[in-house]
Amino acid sequence: MNAQQVVAGIDLGGNAVNYTFLTGDRRFLVEGLCEHPALVTEGPDVCLQQIADGLEIAATGVGLTPDQIVGVGLDTPGPATAGGVLSARGSTNFVHERWAGFDIRAGLEAKLARPVCYLNDGNAAALWGHFSRFGVENKATSISAIIGTGLGGGVIVQGSVVTGRNGFGGELGHVLIPYRSIPGIEGLTPRCNCGRTGDLESLCSLTAIERTLLPFFLQRHPGHQLGELGDPRRAAKFVRGLAEKGDTMCREIFRVQAWALGLFFDEMINVFDPDVLFVGGGAVETDESFQQWIINEIRAAMPRQREEQAGIDILVMPNGDTAGARGAAIEALARV
Ligand SMILES: [Zn+2]
Repeated sequence: MNAQQVVAGIDLGGNAVNYTFLTGDRRFLVEGLCEHPALVTEGPDVCLQQIADGLEIAATGVGLTPDQIVGVGLDTPGPATAGGVLSARGSTNFVHERWAGFDIRAGLEAKLARPVCYLNDGNAAALWGHFSRFGVENKATSISAIIGTGLGGGVIVQGSVVTGRNGFGGELGHVLIPYRSIPGIEGLTPRCNCGRTGDLESLCSLTAIERTLLPFFLQRHPGHQLGELGDPRRAAKFVRGLAEKGDTMCREIFRVQAWALGLFFDEMINVFDPDVLFVGGGAVETDESFQQWIINEIRAAMPRQREEQAGIDILVMPNGDTAGARGAAIEALARV
């Protein structure tokens, strides 16, 4: 790559596409969100055109011409293969029938007429977290858990993303944890969409708050303002804000999520002996003192570590809302 050339990172979410650009000397040209409507529900033809149009607008916005973009990294929610073929069974984010089994990486590559590489959104965010800490060339190992509607994330081992044989590497949400050791949820049976009981996502996600934790704790806190709302889906969205303000019940819900993460991270420490653990996603987009409280609770839940591993860093992922696009751009840079 010469000094004029860049790679683009494109994060395709449910409602919006977010863009970033990365130079050969590892500088991001976009600081915050740079969004364009996604129109995912209208199917591949409309959506891929939207992505292309948005890319041109985003490039112009930072003073780039299209010919300066020499490679593209794309990330989307899964399930998809490691090569970017969306699941033939459909998925929450790609409901239009033509998305089933669609090769979104190849589709975008044809549309943009330049090389496109693919990561799922959790792996892309994990790659960004890793890069922000260790730079591009490194042999470090990190585990990232991203708390959103579900729980995504990624495992980077000695500098490389673990995508696995079928693209399911780093599906951390469906790893079982010994949840019965979390105090305060005796009698709770946390079920996940995937069919498991007691995996990380079943306790640590917005879906877990809505379906499992909020109903459980509201029974124990009669008269709580969120019970008065009557709509669990709406109520779930207020839990973080109230927890941040110190509401007792909402803090309890966040403590359970932090403890679930602590148990999970302990498993990861014993499997990978990582350099650092990252927590990201909407749940931790809060003020610093609440982030610190969450991290302290995660640590409190972890069994005692070996002396060598006791001081492992647990960090909040920086620039959380742009993490996917940034990670996708890093992957593209590694390939051009
Ligand atoms: Zn699951």
